[in-house]
Amino acid sequence: MIRFSKLKDILSTHPAYRFAQAEHAVFKELIEDWQQATSLPLQLREQLNRQLPLTIHARNITMPHTTKALIKLHQGYTVETVLLAHAKRNTVCVSSQVGCPLACRFCHSGKLAFQRNLHADEIITQVLYFQRILKKTGDRVNNVVFMGMGEPFLNYHHVITALKMLNHENKLGISARKISISTAGIAHKIKEFSREGMQVNLAVSLNAPTDSLRSQIMPVNKKYPLKDLIGAVRYYIDQTNRKVMFEYVLIDRLNDQPVHAQKLSVLLKDLLCLVNLIPYNGNGALNPPSPKALNRFKKILDQAGTQYIQRQRLGKEIDAACGELLYRTHALDASGETQAG
Ligand code: SAH
Repeated sequence: MIRFSKLKDILSTHPAYRFAQAEHAVFKELIEDWQQATSLPLQLREQLNRQLPLTIHARNITMPHTTKALIKLHQGYTVETVLLAHAKRNTVCVSSQVGCPLACRFCHSGKLAFQRNLHADEIITQVLYFQRILKKTGDRVNNVVFMGMGEPFLNYHHVITALKMLNHENKLGISARKISISTAGIAHKIKEFSREGMQVNLAVSLNAPTDSLRSQIMPVNKKYPLKDLIGAVRYYIDQTNRKVMFEYVLIDRLNDQPVHAQKLSVLLKDLLCLVNLIPYNGNGALNPPSPKALNRFKKILDQAGTQYIQRQRLGKEIDAACGELLYRTHALDASGETQAG
């Protein structure tokens, strides 16, 4: 990772404009070696190369519309991040933790043991990696979604710091409205987030309309049951006046029945929200909904006046779809290391 947060300290004895020049070189010119920062004195460039190297060690695998990268962190940890290029937009899906402690039954990332939280610099490195690649074709990152591995609200401090860096005009300069954070429902953190005064979008992984079913597939529901979760979302909407997205992964016969659609509509009644229907990725013990069940589900939401969209399934071919990060890295391991970023 690149230790961006050390830059101020390293340059503390230099005039303030050096920091501005260095920051510009990293985030705007997208240099990959301080020697390319020709506005800085040679000696300083050499010092920066020693103390704050800009190389991102990563491997990647590319498929149409999707590139998955495995980025090496220090101490041998690795983290995955995905670029989805669709409809003229480039969306980076970032991870906030190595592994995940929540163990949602349908999520492959949840099956990996939790290892550690990511530092804000490590989150930013994931976006910068793709920004460098896109620059080569005159493109840039337009959207960032915190929907990779991990639970962002269990790494709150670093995630907020990363959001500020993503948004900052002298850093990545991505508009807050183009950034989304997805949480499995850490209720008190949703409330805290409402008070940050950010225009960042909030998504909540709901996946079930009753406590009994939700606790069965998302153990986190035992700690933050629907009453607390919906209460926190209501508080968020009151504070921010922003629409919340509820993600609902549809799983064959588990949560895709008419009764679930009806209960979902009742649960979300009067909330400023949009449901994002996501057909489950994968086959095995759990399966995607049948086309019939999916249509029936949508029809009930239509009749109840519950707004929804259906998520596109990009990235399926390389296991880069939701919840599948780091599930199978064999394809990457075979691809050899690149240092494209
Ligand atoms: N921990 C956060 C962010 C990571 S998951 C959260 O839970 O929101 C991002 C999204 O992928 C969530 O909405 C989750 O419900 C969805 N997801 C996880 N596994 C999936 C799978 N196998 N198929 C489809 N969507 C999945």
